[in-house]
Amino acid sequence: MRRRTVAVLGATGTVGQRFISLLADHPWFELTTLTTSDAKAGKRYGDVVGWHLPGGLPDSVADMRLELTKAYVDAEICFSALPNEAADEWETTLAKAGHHVFTNAGPHRMDEDVPLMIAEVNPGHMRALERQRRVRPWTGSLVANGNCTAIHLTLALAPLHRDFGIERLLVTTMQALSGAGYPGVPSLDALDNVVPYIGGEEEKVVAETQKFLGGSDDAGFKPAEFAMSVHCNRVSVRDGHTETVSIGLRGSPSVDEVKRSLREFQGRPQELRLPSAPEHPIVVRDEPNRPQPVLDRDTERGMASVVGRVREDPILGHKFVVLGHNTIRGAAGASILNAELLLAEGCLGG
Ligand code: NAP
Repeated sequence: MRRRTVAVLGATGTVGQRFISLLADHPWFELTTLTTSDAKAGKRYGDVVGWHLPGGLPDSVADMRLELTKAYVDAEICFSALPNEAADEWETTLAKAGHHVFTNAGPHRMDEDVPLMIAEVNPGHMRALERQRRVRPWTGSLVANGNCTAIHLTLALAPLHRDFGIERLLVTTMQALSGAGYPGVPSLDALDNVVPYIGGEEEKVVAETQKFLGGSDDAGFKPAEFAMSVHCNRVSVRDGHTETVSIGLRGSPSVDEVKRSLREFQGRPQELRLPSAPEHPIVVRDEPNRPQPVLDRDTERGMASVVGRVREDPILGHKFVVLGHNTIRGAAGASILNAELLLAEGCLGG
């Protein structure tokens, strides 16, 4: 496969840095452009970034010059880690200029012609790009990632919805500090504390989960129909969102059947052996005290959702815990996998 040039928009932030670390040695992508807002434009990346990932800043990236985000960049694919306001300003402009934009920001996730994709869960939604290119019209593309909480929840729900059908569910989240970006929640609000509110998050998790698990045809997206209640909390964990889920499934499957459905889940990325695909998108653990962020968030290089404590629930039928890395599979890694899938399926041109 021809190597594609790629840009990271918002390259200095939490998700931008994660993109850079995942793209540094990528076999299909060549990082050519890093963007920033006004103040750091023209500066050497290594001189101005406050790099905060383990393993250090890749040498090949330190010497690159930061550029302003603008209407055209020297890259075929743009991985966007822009905050919402900048995303709203630039992402459609870049798609109009022919770029293939993979966004982590919120503004276009629920648009009627924008695929909101998890590569293993709803690869068929990529066909919405034909509608997008007809309606807008442009030759580029805009493909969205979900919110990091919705991605891991949906990965765990996808096999259960396919194999049994979801009737209703109740979710409580314990979300990491890095989910709020850098510097994020002030330390004196975070330490020794749980904040039981993340603005707009509960509504997003419901809407995005239902879009991911719903259908898509020429007329648009049809959200999955099940009742959901979500409580979102910020906890003093660095990386890794934990979610407890109580769920009513059709047909009263046994606990073993639920575990088997989760364990056996595979998708197109595994069939196609895409470079960023985890061998197992869902890893089920049997120990009674797992998953835990510190022990399990890097499972499958951070690309898996880790499920544990699958058991009966006296009210809804079943319950379990799901944990996942918010900046890898919950953001940058998910976008890169989506781009690999669309390239492999021939959706981004020759
Ligand atoms: P962040 O740490 O605050 O980083 C955002 C970066 O964007 C800043 O470092 C800023 O750096 C840069 N920026 C602002 N305006 C810009 C512009 N016009 N052009 C280029 N860069 C610009 O936030 P984050 O956590 O990385 O989040 C980025 C996006 O991903 C957000 O939309 C967020 O909702 C989404 N997301 C985050 C997570 C997560 O776990 N953190 C998960 C899923 C989705 P400069 O000073 O260099 O401009």
